[in-house]
Amino acid sequence: MTDKTIHKTIIIGSGPAGLTAAIYAARANLDPIVFEGNQPGGQLTITTDVENYPGFPDGVLGPDMMDLFRKQAQKFGAQCFYKHVSRVDFSSSPFKVYVEDEEHLTKSVIISTGASARLLGLDAENELMGHGVSTCATCDGYFFKDKEIVVVGGGDSAMEEANFLTKFANKVTILHRREEFRASKIMIDRSLNNPKIDIIKNVVVSDIFGSQKDGVSSVLLTNTLSGEESKFNCDGVFYAIGHNPNTEQFQNVLDLDEQGYIQTKGKSTITNISGVFACGDVQDSYYRQAVTAAGTGCMAAMDAEKYLESL
Ligand code: NAP
Repeated sequence: MTDKTIHKTIIIGSGPAGLTAAIYAARANLDPIVFEGNQPGGQLTITTDVENYPGFPDGVLGPDMMDLFRKQAQKFGAQCFYKHVSRVDFSSSPFKVYVEDEEHLTKSVIISTGASARLLGLDAENELMGHGVSTCATCDGYFFKDKEIVVVGGGDSAMEEANFLTKFANKVTILHRREEFRASKIMIDRSLNNPKIDIIKNVVVSDIFGSQKDGVSSVLLTNTLSGEESKFNCDGVFYAIGHNPNTEQFQNVLDLDEQGYIQTKGKSTITNISGVFACGDVQDSYYRQAVTAAGTGCMAAMDAEKYLESL
């Protein structure tokens, strides 16, 4: 099926970046179409309380906040569809955006497909994510005041997050699957010198115990050298095992960096293809916050508007 309309802009993805782009694009009369993807609202929909987004002094639930973003975009005329873009063709204008066999035409595209935190793939993850299991120390650390928590991973993020979490927790234990760390020496030293941080090497978390009501109570550790299993009591589990940008559809289409993030020019959201813009975590492996993603969403809509004016 081909929708013959040539849209002014299509936004792919519906986290804070995509929906902020939708608010700005709609108010600029770009009549944006938003294809929300398989996880409408993005990563915030798997968190519970958000306390660091300005304007919500009493905090807000992640899914509720994304509903407000969507409502605000729709109020100005953005059309949001629960559809996943499977393929794009940016080889000529109008660009083609495909939802399975549906073809949609557009003069500009804003990509805000985000990144996904890597997970361990445990059954307990689905149940306990946001209830003691977290992929974001900055977001959720505050909820673990005077608690004992574990951080999974051996890279710079694990070290940084473990140190950050000691501001709240009584004790933080880094669990790493091998003997050598991937993290830089300075970051490792910072963890080694922090009296609140313990390190256990050569273990993987093979299960997490707890409930949505009471949170996490312990994890099951499997020693990667001996295969021995042991239970480790803790109140929270933070994953710091990296993120994957959601850029499968854009490989061999757009310039990506070596980790797969979309490259944008200078301080703008402009990609290597004129008329295609990227914002939010799909082009930012560093800050990864809702408020920074929203900021770049605004930038992408303004960049798209300027581009359309120039045509
Ligand atoms: P990363 O460097 O890819 O490290 C991921 C860590 O998680 C590795 O230690 C890896 O173990 C472990 N891991 C991956 N999958 C796992 C699994 N299934 N089970 C158990 N462990 C698993 O990711 P990152 O730490 O998020 O860092 C990403 C980038 O941002 C890096 O370039 C980093 O330098 C940078 N960064 C810099 C700073 C800073 O300088 N302040 C802070 C944060 C991040 P293996 O080592 O065994 O593969």
